[in-house]
Amino acid sequence: MCIFCKIIRKEIPADFLFENGNVVAFKDIHPKSKTHILIVPKKHIETIKDLKEDEEDEILVGKMFLVARDIAKSLKLEGYQTLFNVGRAGGQEVMHIHLHLLSHQ
Ligand code: AMP
Ligand code: ZN
Repeated sequence: MCIFCKIIRKEIPADFLFENGNVVAFKDIHPKSKTHILIVPKKHIETIKDLKEDEEDEILVGKMFLVARDIAKSLKLEGYQTLFNVGRAGGQEVMHIHLHLLSHQ
């Protein structure tokens, strides 16, 4: 099982900011900016390339961005970046899709 699936199952600790039935968000263990949060679907999908062209995955990815926006708002971030690394060649290390939320604030 991948490391993010273990975090989702609470088998490995993480600093959670959000959880609902489909998505979790927790702090990145090696922050690359003052704020660095990962928004992760509970469903194990390896990369953006593996997303299905169905309503479930469309809604899931949309929800990830809305969670990022809501966390940013709750942290009073005026500006921030959202980023998916895609595939090893795209800098992805953990093969379970996750949206990075980064801010210097
Ligand atoms: P990526 O390179 O896009 O796959 O990003 C993976 C991110 O996961 C990196 O920024 C890591 O610092 C972060 N990471 C790896 N293991 C953990 C962990 N146990 N808890 C929180 N973040 C992690
Ligand atoms: Zn996984």
